[in-house]
Amino acid sequence: MNVSALSRSKIIAAPTGVYENSEFNTHEQVVFASAPEVGLKAIIAIHNTGLGPAMGGCRMWPYTSSDEALTDALRLSEGMTYKNAMAGIPYGGGKAVIIADPKTEKTSEMMRAFGAHVERLAGRYITAEDVGISTADMDAAAQETSYARGTSTKGLGDPSPFTALGVFEGIKAAAEFKYGSPSLEGRTLTIQGLGHVGWTLCEHLHSAGAKLLVADLSDAQLHKARQQLGAEVIAPDTAHQADCDIYVPCALGACLNSASIPQIKARIVAGAANNQLATTEDGVRLHERDILLAPDYIINAGGVISVALGEEHDAKAIVTDKTLAIGKTLKSVFATAQQKNVPTSQVAEEMARARLTA
Ligand code: NAD
Repeated sequence: MNVSALSRSKIIAAPTGVYENSEFNTHEQVVFASAPEVGLKAIIAIHNTGLGPAMGGCRMWPYTSSDEALTDALRLSEGMTYKNAMAGIPYGGGKAVIIADPKTEKTSEMMRAFGAHVERLAGRYITAEDVGISTADMDAAAQETSYARGTSTKGLGDPSPFTALGVFEGIKAAAEFKYGSPSLEGRTLTIQGLGHVGWTLCEHLHSAGAKLLVADLSDAQLHKARQQLGAEVIAPDTAHQADCDIYVPCALGACLNSASIPQIKARIVAGAANNQLATTEDGVRLHERDILLAPDYIINAGGVISVALGEEHDAKAIVTDKTLAIGKTLKSVFATAQQKNVPTSQVAEEMARARLTA
């Protein structure tokens, strides 16, 4: 798409203010990165580099305003600080968002321009895939920067299979804690989102003998799930209410909020989506309902582990081991939360902050 078509297609209001944004929380640096000639409008948020350079994926989404994009970048980058700390990798937290529809507006020129902006940060921020961004997109960005990971030529490529593996381990750990056994044989799980992570996760769950209820916006994915995994299709907007053992959010964030939590029937919430809790109080709401939450930035760390360690010697074995350890980390969070009678989200945050200040 050419630039004039892009500017005609959407009017993006300027953000009302970074410091005024309710998600601003001691972020070190926020970069507004544009390249009008290729329609790039991006925000790169670096939350904390205390443990190392900021590492976190790049998301492309058709945000309706710059404020919405900024809010997402601020929230996601802070989440990466805790995720990387809890995963035990030497990186800080950062995230990039590109304001565009990945289905209709993305071009390799746009991704190269994004890569050039990442390069200007000289290694303070390292990028990779997130929602709306593929390995081919990272290849394009990598033409302009040496700080792109998850490319097809170096490392372990697409991180989502490792994310799915870690979530699978986390689900088993949660099942063991809540139901007394890690076995998923005969258990019913609701998977909301059958994208890169959700689909691979469904394959693991199906192999483990679980019954799958699935929701997505894509009819093709739903058809495939019905055909290949014997899944039952349910509506996306009411997926959280499904009668099941485990609710597995694998689409977008803020799905756990004051409206949805009272309607959840599952006793466990454990999924890949980033920033599942709309607010801190929603962690308390889940705790009060005795619903066990696997904090997202612990359970979904497999991808960033593969991005961070994917170029090491014997990377696949190292990354697999560290990803499988997610189950153990979660069990210790669950046990501490039970002992103190506080939300798992609170325990996770306290552990992550302790690692940051250690
Ligand atoms: P993706 O874009 O490949 O898939 C998202 C899927 O969710 C799509 O199939 C989309 O149609 C579906 N979807 C969107 N809104 C929905 C709704 N309301 N109900 C049901 N389905 C809906 O993304 P992904 O890479 O699979 O990531 C999924 C989530 O996991 C995101 O929140 C992402 O930030 C998080 N995550 C991903 C990785 C990774 O390695 N890809 C790592 C950590 C966290």
